[in-house]
Amino acid sequence: MVVAIPERTHEHLNAYETAISQYNRAVRYLDYDEGLVDYMRYPRREFTVNFPVRRDTGEIEMFTGYRVHHNTALGPSKGGLRYSTAVTLDEVRALAMWMTWKSALVNIPYGGAKGGVVVDPRTLSTGELERLTRRYASELLPLVNPMSDIPAPDMGTNSQVMAWFMDTYSMTVGYSVPAVVTGKPMSVGGSEGRTEATGRGVIITMEASLHTHGEDDPSRIDIAVQGFGNVGSNAALYAHELGYRVVAVSDIDGGIYNPGGLDIPAVIAFAAERGSVLDFPRAENITNEELLATPCDVLIPAAMEGQLHRDNADDVKARYVVEGANGPTTPDGDDILNDRGIHVVPDILANAGGVIVSYFEWVQDMQAFFWDKDEVLNRLQRIMAKAYKQVQANAELHQIDMRTAAQVTAIKRVGEAIQTRGFYP
Ligand code: NAD
Repeated sequence: MVVAIPERTHEHLNAYETAISQYNRAVRYLDYDEGLVDYMRYPRREFTVNFPVRRDTGEIEMFTGYRVHHNTALGPSKGGLRYSTAVTLDEVRALAMWMTWKSALVNIPYGGAKGGVVVDPRTLSTGELERLTRRYASELLPLVNPMSDIPAPDMGTNSQVMAWFMDTYSMTVGYSVPAVVTGKPMSVGGSEGRTEATGRGVIITMEASLHTHGEDDPSRIDIAVQGFGNVGSNAALYAHELGYRVVAVSDIDGGIYNPGGLDIPAVIAFAAERGSVLDFPRAENITNEELLATPCDVLIPAAMEGQLHRDNADDVKARYVVEGANGPTTPDGDDILNDRGIHVVPDILANAGGVIVSYFEWVQDMQAFFWDKDEVLNRLQRIMAKAYKQVQANAELHQIDMRTAAQVTAIKRVGEAIQTRGFYP
């Protein structure tokens, strides 16, 4: 028996239902037979692990983690590890599927994967976080290695978590294997530019979209960013450096708003010290719902899935939505944004900077030969600009929205690879 593919039954879809719904919309534009269409819907492998972690008190607590490989026709599977209490198998399936399309869209030789542990990392001490990571890494050993499956950071994980993962794998095999994960610190084989890659890529695609619509003056553009972690804070910082006005940012506790523009380096320093952007001086506190409806030109959802939906997409004031997060808009939310003429730069295009520089990191680790930052950032810029143009061309060709066009571009590449390889045996 294979797992049932969910039908789209209600509005507040879970992430997997959103991913399947988007796929069903896009694949109609490709002349593929039903068998191939069905094949690409399914995750190839799903792995669930339950494992113990010793708390600092000496007590043993059980945790559940997952790793899903969606499709590996184009190469080893690639995708982040998420630590969050909202992690479910369906969420990991969706994120793995989006990774397949994202890698294909930017033409890098990877399939899609994702992993996660059901835990709030903020409730763990550093020692507990390290023990949880090392045990989870060892549970994933049957799947993970530099030629088959390469994790990276995602929500709730960071470069230190990747260093522990890399060390656990390396100690098990008996020699150092930097290429087993990406998003590592520079001291253990990380790449220049990886930390800021996703946020920077978001702004590269935002600019491509603004320029397409003849909007070339950063000082006239106001931006609101939901989520102030790796993606949101780096997108806000890069936009601020380029002369855009970032008027609102938020994290899980709420947001801050200043119509005159926020001093983003100061907000980053404040949040690092206080653990949240809330109560930043020279700004008004707002809720996350208010942030999504902030008067601005560009809204960047950079927190998590399902944030823009049927009940709030009408409240969006922005003229552009550039998706830093994976799956922040439900299909009904999408319909509303599209009907209102809001330009949506979809997740698999807008946040692909992370997987692109992760690929550069893996290439550098495999060759033990490292590039300077200019080379990394110039290559990132070129790949993202090219992908944007291809999506735009497909949107015009089929007269479809940018999300469907991005998925069509990606699914076509994966479908061609599958057909060329053939169906084993
Ligand atoms: P992170 O853990 O560094 O930051 C997440 C941020 O979102 C934090 O500020 C957190 O407080 C906030 N947040 C969490 N839940 C929220 C909620 N319900 N409402 C409002 N804010 C909330 O994570 P990240 O790496 O920045 O990832 C953010 C999103 O970007 C995720 O969807 C992730 O899958 C996606 N993404 C990340 C990367 C990457 O390279 N890190 C690459 C591509 C896509």
